[in-house]
Amino acid sequence: MKLKELRDQLSGKSIEERLEMLASLFPGQTIFTSSFGVEDQVITEKIFSNNLPIKVITLDTGRLFPETYEVFSQTIIKYRKKIEVYFPDYLSVEKLVTEKGPFSFFDSVENRKECCRIRKVVPLRRALAGMSCWISGIRSEQSDNRSQMSDIEYDEEKKLYNYHPLFDWSLDEVEKYIREKSIPYNPLYDKGYLSIGCEPCTRPIIKGRDFRSGRWWWENEGNKECGCHVK
Ligand code: SF4
Repeated sequence: MKLKELRDQLSGKSIEERLEMLASLFPGQTIFTSSFGVEDQVITEKIFSNNLPIKVITLDTGRLFPETYEVFSQTIIKYRKKIEVYFPDYLSVEKLVTEKGPFSFFDSVENRKECCRIRKVVPLRRALAGMSCWISGIRSEQSDNRSQMSDIEYDEEKKLYNYHPLFDWSLDEVEKYIREKSIPYNPLYDKGYLSIGCEPCTRPIIKGRDFRSGRWWWENEGNKECGCHVK
């Protein structure tokens, strides 16, 4: 199916209808990746509450905050659904930490990218293998890089469609939805962690700044992506 054709089919539909349509257009090949941020929690609620046949997964890098595991646990208990977990290849992690130590990512951008590749990018590639449609919680206002994207795209490299259901949502809309539906969310969010990744690499930010500025804060400003969503 061509991208324009897909866009036409989804046009004018609600997020729930779009998700349902994608799941039926790509049965068994529609996947949502959650890192339990507030945006992801909104999408998880929409998938689980509507019993949509979409595979929900998360990447456990081994360096997450305890609070992230808390919200993971609360989510599967609340919705009585499964979230599939993908871990990094243990041999690669063992080699990395043995050779470079547990904080190699602070030493250089190359080292940081190496760690992200082992702990995130490679497991993500494994999760996406054989999938045709990848749903994620990206919002346009999260960063300059993300504002260049669009809500429905085709990823030539990964050979699948990307759908970002909350692409046009403001943060206020996300927070309102979370409150209205009593959706569990990461308590770190209320302490200024608007974008939450691995514990050593994430800091709280001042509201109004680039959402990704709390990630890899020791690096110069620029493209704050781990390699999962950049092409
Ligand atoms: Fe490694 Fe930090 Fe990337 Fe997590 S965010 S994979 S700890 S470099």
